[in-house]
Amino acid sequence: MSHPQPEAAGIDSGGAARLLGRCTFPPAGEELFCAVSGGADSLALLVLACAAGCRVTAIHVDHGLRPGSGAEADVVDAAARRLGAQFRKEQVWIEPGGNVEARARQARLGVLPPGTATGHTVDDQAETVLLNLCRGAGLDGLAGMRAGRTHPILALRRAETVALCAEVRLVPVADPSNTDLRLRRNRIRHEVLPLLCAVAERDVAPVLARQAGLLAADAELLAELASDIEAADATALRLVPAPIARRVLRAWLRDEQGHPPDAAAIERVMDVARGDAGGTDVGGGVRVRRSRGRLVVGRSLTGAGGAASRVAAVSAGVSADRAPTRAAHCDDAALGPVVVGEAELAARVAELGAQITRDYVGRPPLLIGVLKGAFLFMSDLARAIALPVECDFMAVASYGTSTRTSGVVRIVKDLDLDLSGRHVLVVEDIVDSGLTLSYLRRNLAARGPASLEVCALLVKAGLQRAPLDLRYVGFEIPPDFVVGYGLDMNEHYRNLPYVCRYIEVP
Ligand code: 5GP
Repeated sequence: MSHPQPEAAGIDSGGAARLLGRCTFPPAGEELFCAVSGGADSLALLVLACAAGCRVTAIHVDHGLRPGSGAEADVVDAAARRLGAQFRKEQVWIEPGGNVEARARQARLGVLPPGTATGHTVDDQAETVLLNLCRGAGLDGLAGMRAGRTHPILALRRAETVALCAEVRLVPVADPSNTDLRLRRNRIRHEVLPLLCAVAERDVAPVLARQAGLLAADAELLAELASDIEAADATALRLVPAPIARRVLRAWLRDEQGHPPDAAAIERVMDVARGDAGGTDVGGGVRVRRSRGRLVVGRSLTGAGGAASRVAAVSAGVSADRAPTRAAHCDDAALGPVVVGEAELAARVAELGAQITRDYVGRPPLLIGVLKGAFLFMSDLARAIALPVECDFMAVASYGTSTRTSGVVRIVKDLDLDLSGRHVLVVEDIVDSGLTLSYLRRNLAARGPASLEVCALLVKAGLQRAPLDLRYVGFEIPPDFVVGYGLDMNEHYRNLPYVCRYIEVP
């Protein structure tokens, strides 16, 4: 990168020329927005950006937090004019109250154009690393700010920015909030760092900044490796080294503010990916569960607070993070632990309905319920689809023992409607070997539908001999015989509001 001599920008400063070699400004002639509060660091940023030959706009954000803060804008305006830079003032309003620093930062970021350069130095980097250490921010936090066009003077020391301002006769604004020890960053600056320097008997700021740079390179390497992994692919997550899987999940599960779930939640999602748990809440009202080898993000059963985890434990015995329980409302020795609870069924059916609604806009499906097992699921699902669906039913009987199908299927009741040209969505209760479904699919495909897809509420893990090609699946469950929510044993238990294991009583 070649920069013109400082004189070219109207600054006669040997100091600027010397410092530029350690800066990371974009090439001369490029447009650069600089956030300039009027303090020594940001004024030095402005001087150096102009000296680098960039087309600079100095942006001053008035937070309206102190009386007279407007006068600081005049200082920046005057400096920009002297240096031949453009000037712009932005006003934000911060409500009084706690966490002022973070809220002011958020408001500032909201008005600064993307890619705006800031005047952070080695000293700021050291403070940031220590603050992030206290937050437990992990590798990315300890890597601190990244050098580049948004942090062009990150390799300079604060003392150098002060000296540069003095050399070019700019008088920085003294911000009284920089000495306010109620702010954590100020305690790090004025108390922790001097103590660390005394203990280490050296200036630790460059040591911390250097380590941050090395960790940033490590973090980038991991990010690159993680970028090849699809977050929803549970098998892929299981196979890659844990640090990469964690990184994939943290990036995937960020909330609206961009914050990842906490470390414990990420470990629980890793358990779900490994198959050690069926699902887990990650906070913020979000739940991650596994279905047919994929991780699916949905609404938590326990709400944003996550306090009602007992409800989840009672409702779904498939997950290792929830205690299996006996079906509560039936005093029947044949009823084992609940496999999918009532609330979980309702939440998933709502999700499926929303998904189907999105997928079938402009071509409402004909739902074909497979009697009798799918009757409850079909009635709930039909109401969760916000489209004018048509419904028809088919009843099939499969030969076999009471708890095993043979795959030989007989149509007991056929459809009333003609399928030709219709978008058919078969609604199945449960797929075990998949034989019934593959028979049905062949049979229905021969009737000339415009499209043919399947929505199965339950799929038994690992029992199918051929790929099933199911467009929608509610839950993957262990390969036990289950009853409830439409599923029967000799016509019993269909009206249980949940799905539970059936135990053959000798
Ligand atoms: P598949 O042909 O996939 O082996 O079996 C599918 C049919 O068998 C389902 O539509 C259902 O009628 C019955 N079935 C399979 N597994 C279960 C189960 O666990 N419980 C109940 N009640 N029926 C089952």
